Amino acid sequence: MTILRNLSELNEWRAQCSGQTIGFVPTMGALHKGHFSLVRESMKQANLTIVSIYVNPTQFDNPEDLRKYPNTLESDIKELKDLEVNAVYLPTPSDLYPNGPISKAFDFGSLARFMEGIGRDGHFEGMATVVTKFFELIQPNFAYFGEKDFQQLAIITRVVQQENLPTVIVPVKTERDEDGMAMSSRNLRLLDAQRKDAGNINKILKKWIFRKGYRSSTPGESSELLANEISHYENLTVHYVTFADSKNLEPIASFNTSTPTRIFVAVQCGNVRLIDNFPLF
Ligand code: AMP
Repeated sequence: MTILRNLSELNEWRAQCSGQTIGFVPTMGALHKGHFSLVRESMKQANLTIVSIYVNPTQFDNPEDLRKYPNTLESDIKELKDLEVNAVYLPTPSDLYPNGPISKAFDFGSLARFMEGIGRDGHFEGMATVVTKFFELIQPNFAYFGEKDFQQLAIITRVVQQENLPTVIVPVKTERDEDGMAMSSRNLRLLDAQRKDAGNINKILKKWIFRKGYRSSTPGESSELLANEISHYENLTVHYVTFADSKNLEPIASFNTSTPTRIFVAVQCGNVRLIDNFPLF
């Protein structure tokens, strides 16, 4: 595995890749099984796989979250090497932001209007800025994004269409711990009691779906009921439980099995903001 520590090393590596397809997995490090499933998809589909590790400052609206973002670089590199990834790119800030960390403007339409688009100022602009910059530098044939961050996946898919970029966006299913909790780098920051409580979020939502709770209530009533149930746990404070159309990510007014619908949730657990989502129908 080649470690690329700056743009000129990336350019040198890239120049040797002609005639090969390239799969790209952008990450912020503190790698876990969720990241590795993206890597495996890439290794199946593309000739060469490159993973980036970069904690992108422009997508953080909370300076403390940025400062405390977990860093496990040494073990990340070892695990990527064990997986036989071809290259890992550790960009310098000026590779990506030669004029300083400033986001570009985008039109995400309704995709960024709800859920994570509310109360996380500039998050998606920052994310789309860094991802499109990576695409410009790496020129990947495929790029892999987790459904764990469904809104991010939808937004990047739209940006690629809008800007007519040649990279194919490949969605990858969410990897979960045994109790159903979506894996996330930020889970490393949870204390034991917080982690235990957090494991109930997915269980509560799944139980409601299993019992077909949507048959006897409106999305508003269901959101309230589920938020109350989650909030019973001492360490959990609900930001939202939202049912949204999987295509335009607008909250739905009524349950209709012919509209592809997902349930989206954001919960504060200690200092960590957790998000998750999955399809309802
Ligand atoms: P991050 O390092 O958190 O920015 O995530 C990098 C990529 O990994 C994103 O496309 C995420 O959606 C994806 N990812 C994060 N957690 C998971 C998970 N539990 N399952 C699948 N993909 C994930």
